[in-house]
Amino acid sequence: MSRARIVATIGPATRSREALATLARAGMSVARLNGSHADLDWHAETIALIRDVLPDVPILLDVPGRKVRTASLKVEPVFQKGDVLTLTTAEGHDGSEKVPVNYADLHRDVEAGDTILADDGTLRFHVERVDGQDIVIRADMAGQLKSCKGINLPFVSLSHGVVTERDRRMVEFALGNGVDFVGISFVESAEHVSAIRDLIGADSPRIISKVENRGGLARLEEIIDASDAIMIDRGDLSVETSLDRLALFQKEIIALANRHDTPVIVATEMLHTMIENPYPTKAEVSDITNAVLDGCAATMLSGETAVGPYYAEAVAVMRRISDVAVQHVYAAASGTEEPLADSIPNAVEQAVALICRGLPVTKIVAITRSGYAARKVALRRLRQPILAVSDDPMAARSFNLLPGTTGVCLDVSFSRDSTDHIVQCLHALWAQGRLAIDDLILVTSVGYPRSGNRMNLIQTHYVRDLVDTLGWRADEDRMDMVDIRAVRG
Ligand code: ATP
Ligand code: MG
Ligand code: MG
Repeated sequence: MSRARIVATIGPATRSREALATLARAGMSVARLNGSHADLDWHAETIALIRDVLPDVPILLDVPGRKVRTASLKVEPVFQKGDVLTLTTAEGHDGSEKVPVNYADLHRDVEAGDTILADDGTLRFHVERVDGQDIVIRADMAGQLKSCKGINLPFVSLSHGVVTERDRRMVEFALGNGVDFVGISFVESAEHVSAIRDLIGADSPRIISKVENRGGLARLEEIIDASDAIMIDRGDLSVETSLDRLALFQKEIIALANRHDTPVIVATEMLHTMIENPYPTKAEVSDITNAVLDGCAATMLSGETAVGPYYAEAVAVMRRISDVAVQHVYAAASGTEEPLADSIPNAVEQAVALICRGLPVTKIVAITRSGYAARKVALRRLRQPILAVSDDPMAARSFNLLPGTTGVCLDVSFSRDSTDHIVQCLHALWAQGRLAIDDLILVTSVGYPRSGNRMNLIQTHYVRDLVDTLGWRADEDRMDMVDIRAVRG
């Protein structure tokens, strides 16, 4: 099983049964939808299609947040350096004369002399003047302003609130459609994350905070703590902060998140030239390798799989490069010493790592309702594949974001006052053919949880012994023994 995780954005190029199946075969781990593009009907249909074709693949829906964008345009103006264009907050324009934007107060927030960047910072303008609802801008370079592209005003603080009305609708939509993760744009504080958590009112969908501006960097640690995962959107982050420091920010964010056991997705332009070519540049190959060496849990594809014809090649290239890099990281990690942990879950986690390095353990089983144990063990970068078992289907599916981890949902009820469910889970995994007779497994879990869901148990078993001792049925007729919902094969 491949350990590196790949998030692939589904768009017009990949919204078909064949393309989705191709992406999964090539190595996609998570399917992402960008709520900023297309409408809710499009997304509802796409979610249903993904669920139907790839029931085990978790779905991430990015909520647009406060990103200012051009509207959907009939005419996408082409301009030369020095040309003047007009952005407007007024209704009824299509790009032919003026370019409408999706943020109604933009004309109030900018003034003459401000810099405006567009399309992940690839276009730059200066504000000449503000004329009622029109913002007259002069281009610093030649280019084309396309539909739904981001508009960044790195030095202007926008007056709209953290959670917009559109976000509310989108989070409700995510809940209603059973999405596994929501990606929250421009997160700047733990309160922002809690506001979204309150809207969700449950553990799932899990929250992926996008760190993509100064505010996000300033309060990075509390955001990491409050979130289920972090995404580094390097497009917005580079424009909003400093292009020159981008790679350093990436390293700092990943290092801090790893200290808090929070997985990180690295996004934007990872294989950008593959939107138009079937092969990558060496710089792109290096970038993927380095993101993995930095310690990210997943790398992401955007336009490469959303709109590019070479989506299958892009995922396959990313899969190959990141697998090689991950193997290197795991091999390098195996000899490292560290000071002894001073809390039970951390000590158990260390002991798991130690046992897995010393013994010929073939699989790790993390029995975990919330995913705590799965996260702890997966971010340790051990060579063994991890089966992360939950009794909650959405939680189980979400574990597939973790490196080296297969989320499995079992129809076993997890007990708080006994540990009987552990052996029931092992039995079910055996019945599903996920454990082999020759496996030596390490099981980690929580027994008698009280103060939250932590990890305090380790067991090691030869599966052969369990089969003998507990009288489990032999290999051939295992699959139909128990009624089990498998989340990922
Ligand atoms: P973000 O800040 O969320 O990354 P983005 O505009 O950069 O926003 P990406 O998700 O990175 O969007 O995707 C890259 C490009 O792929 C988009 O700008 C858009 O042109 C195209 N795209 C993505 N999803 C869709 C979709 N559902 N329909 C049409 N085009 C899409
Ligand atoms: Mg962004
Ligand atoms: Mg992007």
